[in-house]
Amino acid sequence: MLIDNYGRRIRYLRVSVTDRCNLRCLYCSHNHFEWLPPEEILSYEEIYRVVKAAVSLGLERVRLTGGEPLVRKDFVQLVELLSGIEGLRDLSLTTNGLLLSDMARALKEAGLHRVNVSLDTLRADRFQKITGLDGLSRVLAGIEAALSAGLRPVKINTVIMRGLNEDEIPEMVRWTLSEPLHLRFIEFMPVGEGADWGPERFVPLSEIMERASEVGELQPAALEGGGPARVFRLPGARGTVGFIAALSEHFCGSCNRLRLTPEGRLRFCLFSDREFDLRPYLNQGEEVLRQALLEAIRHKPASRLDSETPKRVMRSIGG
Ligand code: SAM
Repeated sequence: MLIDNYGRRIRYLRVSVTDRCNLRCLYCSHNHFEWLPPEEILSYEEIYRVVKAAVSLGLERVRLTGGEPLVRKDFVQLVELLSGIEGLRDLSLTTNGLLLSDMARALKEAGLHRVNVSLDTLRADRFQKITGLDGLSRVLAGIEAALSAGLRPVKINTVIMRGLNEDEIPEMVRWTLSEPLHLRFIEFMPVGEGADWGPERFVPLSEIMERASEVGELQPAALEGGGPARVFRLPGARGTVGFIAALSEHFCGSCNRLRLTPEGRLRFCLFSDREFDLRPYLNQGEEVLRQALLEAIRHKPASRLDSETPKRVMRSIGG
């Protein structure tokens, strides 16, 4: 079993399938234009090997992320490969939604269970300001397509930033009254070189929750795969509202996750640049890979408070 030095059992892997993205979000990769050379990116077969070995050691959930996963060629084939792994209970995707409307059905048919769409604003002009692209209507169409394809639950990840979108919190909460969407407000994390924005943009979760409560009484609710979010529902709402305190609280004691970078390095904590290179073990059979994974998780730090500020941008570590 994948159990680290502190007794935490690893059940969840986030796989960054590419560092490329079709958006240039101000807070993520705005000024960062260096891409990994294509020959360094893991092939789908290599990703499959890592996931299969990890599942044989008790991994249960995989989330595909990036960069923007849907820009990688033949992405549906990767979903097909991974969904065939026996013992993998939950296969999900994090996307900016731009290409989702054309792909949602094929992804569902390939075995994807559910999807998270990142969306920080419901206003077209702000969307363009944040992401550099006039694409809000395409993202909304992608969300609709995910719902009609039966990818459930559909979660919406919204990063709240001071002076940019904190005034939209009530409007977004009201969205869950009419739509079966599961909103999750996430604290902005000033991490990664290349991002334009610093700590002055940070809005603490307590303030986000206060603004959200202006809409009505938020009653505690449950949601499958809720992760570290605290989840609530407005009376009679079709969707839920969740809150993730990425910075102001930490849940390291119960952290059950690892990350795999596009070039095959395991990362143990979003807030640490400590990595373990799996590449040398990818072509030596499943047992060697299993041993490498068991060795690797010994490097997972006890707490992010032990970690230095990471230099890699979110796009290259899978957010
Ligand atoms: N392209 C996909 C997407 O947009 O969902 C997946 C990758 S993206 C890096 C994953 C998530 O990280 C997005 O929800 C994005 O908003 C979030 N993210 C990026 N930089 C962030 C930061 N500095 N603080 C908080 N969240 C961040």
